Amino acid sequence: MSTDSLSALIGLTPSINGQCLCGRSSYICRKSPVWSVNCHCHGCQKLSGAPFVSAFSVPAESFGFTGETIAFQRPSEAGHSVTTTHCAACGTRLFAQSAGARHLVNVFASTLVDAGSFVAISNVYLSEAAAWAQPPSARFNFEKMPKA
Ligand SMILES: [Zn+2]
Ligand SMILES: [Zn+2]
Repeated sequence: MSTDSLSALIGLTPSINGQCLCGRSSYICRKSPVWSVNCHCHGCQKLSGAPFVSAFSVPAESFGFTGETIAFQRPSEAGHSVTTTHCAACGTRLFAQSAGARHLVNVFASTLVDAGSFVAISNVYLSEAAAWAQPPSARFNFEKMPKA
């Protein structure tokens, strides 16, 4: 499936805007997402306090943000450092970036100004999914993180 048709499935049209809960940090994506996920990994569960998080990946050069932020780093399963950026005032998790894929920014979909048309096209880390929540249906499903 081509990148263009995947982008169409994700349902977000640039420019894409989002912000944190308190509104002091915001971002803009000027290109369409190339991928979207529900991530069920233990790290995302801990960081969010929820059974999974939904996110979409955009080209890094198309992404900009403003506001005072704090960064938290953790290793990915593949051994890359993953940096998650939070609003410094309210703690909202806005986006994350892996040292193994610096050309992409992974944006947390619940921070969208308008999430009404967003579609997560995949589930990843289904092997770690919370026992108390049913993963949403998605077109692509992976027990772990698929190899890029
Ligand atoms: Zn905030
Ligand atoms: Zn995760």
